[in-house]
Amino acid sequence: TPGIRPLVAGNWKMNGTSASLGELRGIAEGFAQGLGEVADGLVCVPATLLARAAEVTTGTPLNVGGEDCHPKESGAHTGDISAEMLKDAGATHVIVGHSERRTDHGESNATVHAKAEAVWRAGLVAIICIGETQAQRESGSTLDVLAQQIAGSVPADANAGNAVIAYEPVWAIGTGLTPTVDDVAQAHAYIRARLGDKLGAVAGRMRILYGGSVKPSNAVELLSVENVDGALVGGASLKAADFLGIARAY
Ligand code: PEP
Repeated sequence: TPGIRPLVAGNWKMNGTSASLGELRGIAEGFAQGLGEVADGLVCVPATLLARAAEVTTGTPLNVGGEDCHPKESGAHTGDISAEMLKDAGATHVIVGHSERRTDHGESNATVHAKAEAVWRAGLVAIICIGETQAQRESGSTLDVLAQQIAGSVPADANAGNAVIAYEPVWAIGTGLTPTVDDVAQAHAYIRARLGDKLGAVAGRMRILYGGSVKPSNAVELLSVENVDGALVGGASLKAADFLGIARAY
């Protein structure tokens, strides 16, 4: 989108140990050696790796983020991690509402909304994920689902500085399947319009990422679609060569 600097974001999911930090270093070097001039780079890593990931990327244009957070700042929530803790470990962004969280942990739009506000309370940027399932697409309800998710998951004070929207068709995540360029264009235009209804003019400056089986070989095609302002990349973010290959679409 004219005037919007793209963001190429990775999501390592439940992958990575200290042995993976070399890949992160490789990604950071790629962004330091020129890619960072054309796009912002971010890799969201498991909380166990975040502090070391932040160290490895210090002084480079690559940011690191968390993959989820608890809505509260602290308290009796064994095993959970707050946005403040992620910030303390070096995160600049936190993914909320990823479809794997919505499915594996039953997260509702209201939960995702609360988590986005928690991310802002900590002073970080929320990457709010939305997207339809295969069944929803087949029944023709994709756009209705997106409207509901925007209505329920995106807080009314979202703006271009504190939030990024990621459109991730659930059936395209980790499957190697991708929507057609026309489907992506339709979904992103619709998302921008609904954000406009909800947030006003600021919606025109918000980043809307596409996610779902992005790889170097399809990145140029997907990332040049109108209203696509970057990518959220799962599997292909684990290897520096793949992630940098995607970012080179810019
Ligand atoms: C994701 O997890 O956000 C994702 C898009 O995964 P993949 O790129 O592996 O489809």
